[in-house]
Amino acid sequence: MDILEIHQIPVLNDNYLYLFKDSQTDAVGIVDPAEAEPVLEKLEELGWKLTHIINTHHHWDHTGANLELKEKTGCIVVGAKKDAARIPGIDIMLEEGDIFEFGSQTAQILETSGHTIGHITYWFEEADALFCGDTLFALGCGRLFEGSPAQMWDSLKKFLALPDDTKVYCAHEYTEANARFAITIEPKNTRLMARFDEIMAKRAKNIPTVPTTIGEERSTNPFLRPDSPDVLEELNMAGADPVSVFAEIRHRKDTF
Ligand code: ZN
Ligand code: FE
Repeated sequence: MDILEIHQIPVLNDNYLYLFKDSQTDAVGIVDPAEAEPVLEKLEELGWKLTHIINTHHHWDHTGANLELKEKTGCIVVGAKKDAARIPGIDIMLEEGDIFEFGSQTAQILETSGHTIGHITYWFEEADALFCGDTLFALGCGRLFEGSPAQMWDSLKKFLALPDDTKVYCAHEYTEANARFAITIEPKNTRLMARFDEIMAKRAKNIPTVPTTIGEERSTNPFLRPDSPDVLEELNMAGADPVSVFAEIRHRKDTF
């Protein structure tokens, strides 16, 4: 049995919510609830009672159902201390280095600013699960709405330090567009080209490409590869520092 039983709920155009339960206790969490109804339906179907809303950042497509779910279930809202003023109903405030206790499990809190300031990521080490919101996507990363390229690169470097088999539960299905962009940055990466074909085949049948893994992203995601010789050659940036290369890749994606 999995330590955490995780259900993926697609909502809106391309958001994924994650409803999950600790196998040893009654702790049940929902990550970034954009909408209440699909969560309430799934809870009823599974016979689970919601205990925690777990927010990565303040955007409405991640917190839109906080207050309704809190009112209807009596759950606790967990989010970033730095972002507390923008997280509706927040009860538990977390920051870099904190350990969040969830039933019999714990998550390490990583501050992953860049997409927003105060964005956090939950790393359930024993369960090999990373809830990273809009920081890292399959073959992509979040747009820099509030942070700088240097801040985002610092955040992504924290993910590069995690084990390869860590599952990356990101908040959007952006993979097809990300893949089309990725092959322009590293066309000589054979693993990326093979992954491109797999992604197109899956999306043609509307199959999710998420979760992904840290290992897969490490070897194919251009935003994690600003030190790859092939990337540097393609961008004509030999010798440049990773932050400048990351900034150039992010800029190209924004105008792709
Ligand atoms: Zn967002
Ligand atoms: Fe989002």
